[in-house]
Amino acid sequence: MKVLILGAGTMGRGIAELFAAHAIPVELYDPNEAARLRVQELSEKYPNILQIHSTLPRTIDHTVVIEAVPEDFDLKRQVFGGIEAYLSPEVIVATNTSALSVHGLSQGLSYKGRFIGWHFFNPPTRLPLVEVIPTQHTASQVVEQSLAILRSVGKVPVIAPDLPGFIVNRVARPYYVEALRLVERGDVSPEVVDQLMEGLGFRMGPFRLMDLIGIDVNHAVTQRVWEGLFYPGRFRPSWLQAQKVAAGHLGRKVGQGFYSYEK
Ligand code: NAD
Repeated sequence: MKVLILGAGTMGRGIAELFAAHAIPVELYDPNEAARLRVQELSEKYPNILQIHSTLPRTIDHTVVIEAVPEDFDLKRQVFGGIEAYLSPEVIVATNTSALSVHGLSQGLSYKGRFIGWHFFNPPTRLPLVEVIPTQHTASQVVEQSLAILRSVGKVPVIAPDLPGFIVNRVARPYYVEALRLVERGDVSPEVVDQLMEGLGFRMGPFRLMDLIGIDVNHAVTQRVWEGLFYPGRFRPSWLQAQKVAAGHLGRKVGQGFYSYEK
């Protein structure tokens, strides 16, 4: 078994480490040099198991390709179209999208029978849940294989419907959106909201969690869920979050989000 991951950002790196820690060879591809540099430490930790590339391999004969590029429909479609010519038969292609339609992403692809959603959670090395999202075209064998592979690396895969935000991101939306509304109105600070929610037993308050996820990623997910459900007011994206994205304050990955982080 071997794995190819497209995109070596927060999730690509974490998913790569998950497979490498189980001694499964994993290759990563990312066109961005800074992203590749951030993988260096991991490739030193797992020599001969984890490799990072600046160009896409010309033969893709891996057991599975996992796509973890930014949450942008057109970009993802471009990536899936781009690998079509190099894919060997039998390769499973999994998208780690948080909220985009898996059906929509697979539309028109010659390999849509092998296309499926594998939605990992951050950090993938620690959180066991993976939502597995088949489309109506996904072969049942691909679903079975997906469940087996994920279980073999200690994950708990759960089949989820191809609806905006699947299950977890839909149910979790109000956690972020309502917290942002309170802070937008000036009623309370992010620190207080986090302290209260953590005091109640949540592992992370919404602002600390958005910083971990990536404020750009979290904002994109809210936008996709809101659009996908035909704009219900309860999921309306937050201007405060949009402003953070525009300022480049994307969270831990850049050292600044709702909180500041030492590099
Ligand atoms: P990120 O911005 O940290 O990383 C994305 C990476 O993709 C970057 O390194 C970028 O250089 C690379 N990239 C851009 N264009 C590319 C291309 N054409 N080919 C290959 N790589 C390319 O984003 P992320 O947080 O890792 O999110 C990736 C995906 O995972 C998104 O769909 C997101 O919704 C989903 N996701 C994120 C989280 C989270 O908590 N961050 C959790 C679950 C799922």
